[in-house]
Amino acid sequence: MRTSASHTIIRRRTRFIVVLFGSAKKYRNYSLAMDYRISGSAFFAVFLLYGFINISASLVPSSTTVALNAPVTLNFSVRCNSGHIEWNHRQKTTSGELGPLRRPEYIETCDSLSKVPNRASMVHSLIEAYGLLRHMSTVKPHVASIEEMAKFHTDAYLEHLHKISQDGDNDDPQSGDFGLGYDCPVVEGIYDYAAAVGGATLTAAQCLLDKRGEVAINWAGGWHHAKKDEASGFCYVNDAVLGILKLREKYKRVLYVDVDLHHGDGVEDAFSFTSKVMTVSLHKFSPGFFPGTGDLCDTGLGKGRWYAVNVPLDDGIKDDRYFQVFSSVIQEVQTLFNPEAVVMQLGADTMAGDPMCSFNMTPVGVAQCLRHVLDWHLPTLLLGGGGYNLANTARCWTYLTATVLGQTLASEIPDHEFFTEYGPDYSLEISPSCRPDRNENKHLDTVISTIKGNLKNVV
Ligand SMILES: [Zn+2]
Repeated sequence: MRTSASHTIIRRRTRFIVVLFGSAKKYRNYSLAMDYRISGSAFFAVFLLYGFINISASLVPSSTTVALNAPVTLNFSVRCNSGHIEWNHRQKTTSGELGPLRRPEYIETCDSLSKVPNRASMVHSLIEAYGLLRHMSTVKPHVASIEEMAKFHTDAYLEHLHKISQDGDNDDPQSGDFGLGYDCPVVEGIYDYAAAVGGATLTAAQCLLDKRGEVAINWAGGWHHAKKDEASGFCYVNDAVLGILKLREKYKRVLYVDVDLHHGDGVEDAFSFTSKVMTVSLHKFSPGFFPGTGDLCDTGLGKGRWYAVNVPLDDGIKDDRYFQVFSSVIQEVQTLFNPEAVVMQLGADTMAGDPMCSFNMTPVGVAQCLRHVLDWHLPTLLLGGGGYNLANTARCWTYLTATVLGQTLASEIPDHEFFTEYGPDYSLEISPSCRPDRNENKHLDTVISTIKGNLKNVV
């Protein structure tokens, strides 16, 4: 893995699409902008809409963590197409979307990570520029307490992280024991960053527990390498583990699916001895490639044996073959493990054009995998992860956000703060490169058949 961006989305079981974002004022401004493009009777409809927005906003207690600026409780969907606004009554039997809100400080905190500077803002801005925020609700994340992070991490690690975070002391002799330094540099405020990311994923998981939606997203999460007492691979807190533990408070079996380029070693380690959490990681497995774990034969330990699934892949894999492997494995996992909730890490360092220069994927292929999981209609927590071509990462997660919401996006990148980052073509699509696919059919067949054989041991 390595990093990520911002907020959380919740897809509701009932199909209604709402804007839960920023302030009611901002939403009204948007609607006012639309006024110029509507006419006649549609203008009257907009007028009524303002009324509903204001009513619903006033019904929300000020203590809520959800910014309700749209008619969430009024069962309306707001949809803007071709210069007019239409609204539909919510259908009880169809699925809909809700989504959490960004907290400006949260975005700023995540932007500070030196490995992916401003990535959180780029992701959030592109999602916003495409108008997707109005189809979801956004929820203000809380900052994780030390007690919450200690559900996984050791007190000694957290206390040390807190201590060195005060002044960004990179020379503390104890830091090496906790994996700090090298690719996990100590910078001032790093503890606050870890607490913010951990808290956001816990907030998203709590939204699922509270049945506030079916899908929750924290693109700034997905730090899958961190160990209980050690930072690793740019990861200072393992928010994925914290999220899984939170979901386990209610759900007996939680499935973790990791499609980052790197092996999700921290998550696998955390649950290697239990049969209550199954971890599935598809990743590049090659001598010398970080973190060096995740071989086909690594299947868990003790009671957790057969509950860790590793899919080792080689360079150059593209959308079609990746999805073929993914769907073969994940369908067997779903059938035999029968999860009650899912956490999916969607690191974008698999994209063509990533500096990792390994896989040759596009957002379309990852979205196929995501759609396969979403079709189970389980409580699903989506997290970010790696992604070092910042523009491609923003493209990917914006496309995946639209996939969750069932929205189609225009190819042209809309004008927004980071528009110039998307040159020279300024399009949403990512084209695969012409690098060869090093994965031989025979190898992939062996991987799939071995995993299916192992999964027969799951009871
Ligand atoms: Zn990665």
